[in-house]
Amino acid sequence: MASGEGSSSGASVSSSVLTGDIGPLWDYVTRLEKTSEIGGTWRFQCTFCNEIRLGTYSRVKAHLLQLRNHGIAICKKVTRSQKIEMEKLEEEFDISKKNSRTREVPLPCATTTSTTNKRPRASSST
Ligand SMILES: [Zn+2]
Repeated sequence: MASGEGSSSGASVSSSVLTGDIGPLWDYVTRLEKTSEIGGTWRFQCTFCNEIRLGTYSRVKAHLLQLRNHGIAICKKVTRSQKIEMEKLEEEFDISKKNSRTREVPLPCATTTSTTNKRPRASSST
């Protein structure tokens, strides 16, 4: 008897859009717990240096992208290439955020209706 394990856990909490809880760099940390209802402050663990920090997404970003003077220690385990990759993700996310404000999808009009109905006419001679 093949008993398939019910591994369907599609419970994703996507309630806080405006608090900055979304961002590509969240993927690089482990969110342990939310410390406040509003504001998007989390206790998170960096997956590179395994240090547990506290802060919002901007802090996560500052830590991972090694931005100084953001009230958080920079990550010492992130490699140069990883940093570049994360910078790219953040940039793309930023662009997509801006684009979503004025969404305009240009649809290429592909109307190639070539109806060639050629009927060979057989001329019948009388
Ligand atoms: Zn780190």
